[in-house]
Amino acid sequence: MIPVKGYAAQDSSTPLGPYSFQRREPHDHDIVIDIKYCGICHTDIHQVTNGWGGSTYPMVPGHEIAGTVSQVGSKVTRYKVGDKVGVGCFVDSCRKCDPCKRGLEQYCQEGMSTTYNGVERDGKTPTQGGYSNKIVVDENYVLRIPENIPLDRAAPLLCAGITLYSPLAHWKAGPGKKVGIVGLGGLGHIGVKIAHALGSEVTVLSHSLAKQNDAKKLGADKFYATSDSQTFEKLRGYFDLIINTVSSGIDLNAYLELLKLDGAMILVGMPETEASVGPFLLAGARRTLAGSLIGGIKETQEMLDFCGKHNVACDIEIIPIQKVNEAYKRILNSDVRYRFVIDIKSL
Ligand code: NAP
Ligand code: ZN
Ligand code: ZN
Repeated sequence: MIPVKGYAAQDSSTPLGPYSFQRREPHDHDIVIDIKYCGICHTDIHQVTNGWGGSTYPMVPGHEIAGTVSQVGSKVTRYKVGDKVGVGCFVDSCRKCDPCKRGLEQYCQEGMSTTYNGVERDGKTPTQGGYSNKIVVDENYVLRIPENIPLDRAAPLLCAGITLYSPLAHWKAGPGKKVGIVGLGGLGHIGVKIAHALGSEVTVLSHSLAKQNDAKKLGADKFYATSDSQTFEKLRGYFDLIINTVSSGIDLNAYLELLKLDGAMILVGMPETEASVGPFLLAGARRTLAGSLIGGIKETQEMLDFCGKHNVACDIEIIPIQKVNEAYKRILNSDVRYRFVIDIKSL
C-alpha cells in the first residue's frame, strides 16, 4: 500500500483536519499521480456538511486534481512518468452500460465511482479525493493537461470547466446565441470565459453589481444585478440559453421568463432544496428546463484541449491546506475570486 497524507472531514460538523491513509499499489492499468494542486468546489461543502444527505466519513474531499505522473502500472499505454495530468469528479464506472459506451460515464446506469464520498467498483472500498498528496487512478479515467496551462489554473477545469463546457456545447452556444450565466462563482466565471471563447454573447446575472468589472474582464458583454427587479423586466424573452450555477434555491420561474421562444435553462447549481416550476411558463414559449452533470472523459479532454487552444484557464486564489476551513466560509459568503486552489505542498 502507498501511504498518503491528506485533510479529511470526520463528520458533518467538525472542521477538516490532517488525516493519513493508504492507497492501493498500482494495478496494471493504474497511474500514480503526485497531486500538486486541488481546487475547492462548492460541491465539497455540500458533501462535507452532508447537505445532500448520504455522506460517508472520514471524507477526503477534492475532485479538481492536477499533478504529475510519478509511477505507471505494467500495461499503461496512455501516460508516462512526468506527464501533466488531471482527475475530475469520477475515477471509474461500469464501462458496459449504454452511457459508459457512449463516453457519458457521468450518467453510468450502475453509478459512477465518484472521486471521493463514493466507492470503488467492488462496491465497498471508499474513494478519497484530492486534498491529499497522491492518488491512484485507472489510466482511462485520467486527463491530459495542455502544456500551456499552468497546473494550478488548470485544476478547476476538471470540474467547474467541464460542468459549464458540456451544456454550452450540448445546447450549441456559439455565434449569434445569447447566453446568460447566473451566479459568478467558480462555475460561473469559467462559464463566462468558455461561452465567450465559443463566440456567444454573454450576460452575467449576479446578485449585486459588485463583480461587474471582473465580469467584463472575464469576457462578459453585459452584466445585471438580480437584486434589481428592473433586470427581470429588461431581459424578458432575451436569452437562447441560460446556465444557472447558483448553489442555493432561487425562483426558477423568474429566470424562465427571460428565455425566448425555444430557449433553454440548464441547471448545474445543485441547491439543497427542491424547486417548483410553472408549467405555463414552459409551455408559453416552448421553453426547456434541463439539468446537466459534469461531463464524460472524452468531452473533458475535448474541453481541456479547447481551453489550451483558446488560452482559457481559471482565475484562482492559491491557499495552503491549513486555510481550507476559512476558504469554505468565504465561499459560502460568495467571497471567492473565483476559485480557491489548494497548494498541496503545504501538506
Ligand atoms: P460558488 O463558487 O460558491 O458559486 C456560486 C455562486 O452562486 C456565487 O458566487 C453567487 O454568485 C451565487 N449565489 C450563491 N448563493 C446565492 C443566493 N442565495 N442567491 C443568489 N445567488 C447566489 O459555487 P460553485 O463551485 O460554482 O458551485 C455552484 C453549484 O454548482 C453548487 O451547488 C455545486 O454543488 C454545483 N455543481 C454542480 C455540478 C454539476 O455537475 N452539475 C458540478 C460542480 C458544481 P453571485 O455572487 O454572482 O450572485
Ligand atoms: Zn465540483
Ligand atoms: Zn456504466
